[in-house]
Amino acid sequence: NYRCRSAFKLLEIDDKYNILRPGFSVVDCGAAPGAWSQVAVKRVNATGENPEYPRGAVVGVDLLHIAPLDGAHFLSNQDIASPATHAELQRILPGGLADVILSDMAPNASGFREMDHERLVSMCLSLLGLADVVLKPGGCLVCKYWDGGLARKLHQGLTEVFKEVKIVKPQASRKESAELFFLARLFKKR
Ligand code: SAM
Repeated sequence: NYRCRSAFKLLEIDDKYNILRPGFSVVDCGAAPGAWSQVAVKRVNATGENPEYPRGAVVGVDLLHIAPLDGAHFLSNQDIASPATHAELQRILPGGLADVILSDMAPNASGFREMDHERLVSMCLSLLGLADVVLKPGGCLVCKYWDGGLARKLHQGLTEVFKEVKIVKPQASRKESAELFFLARLFKKR
C-alpha cells in the first residue's frame, strides 16, 4: 500500500529505465508523504529484505514532516536547497555519495501556470548544486517539472553535466497535466 498515487509514476519510470538497483544509495527530494521512498526502499533493498543482494540506502528530504518508514532515513522540515541539508546528506549517505537523485518536488501552486512553471524550474536547477556535492560520477537524476518557456534552459543545464538527458511522461501522469520528468544519466563530475 502506497502513501500516495505518485508511486506509480516512479514504478513506471524505473520499470522502463532500471535506475534503482539493489545496493544503490538514493536521495529523494520532496519526499513527503513518502510514496517514492517506499518504491526506492524496495528496489534498492534498503531494509536488507533480500539477503542475496547488496543493501542500499534511501534518504528523503522535505519541507514538511515525513512519517517514519522502515529502511529510509528522513530529514523532515528541511529545505533541499540549503547547504546545511547538503552537509547532512553527505554525513548520512554511505561514503557521502548517492547513485541516484530523485525529485518529485513541487512548489505550492499559485494557480498562475507560468509562475508555477518558473518556480519549479528554478527548484530543479538548484538540484545541480546538490548533484555537485553528493552525486557519484556516472550517477543519475530524475526530476519532475512543469512544461513551459524555461524548460529548455533546464534541459541545457542538465545536458552540461549529464551525458544523456531524456524527457519522460509516464502513463500514470495525467494526460492533461503539464507535468513531465527529466531523466538525466551518466553524471560528469565537474
Ligand atoms: N514524491 C512524493 C511521494 O511520492 O510521496 C510526493 C511529493 S509532493 C508532489 C512534493 C513535495 O515537495 C511536497 O511535500 C513539498 O513540501 C516538497 N518540497 C517543495 N519544496 C521543497 C524544498 N525546497 N525542499 C524540500 N522539499 C520541498
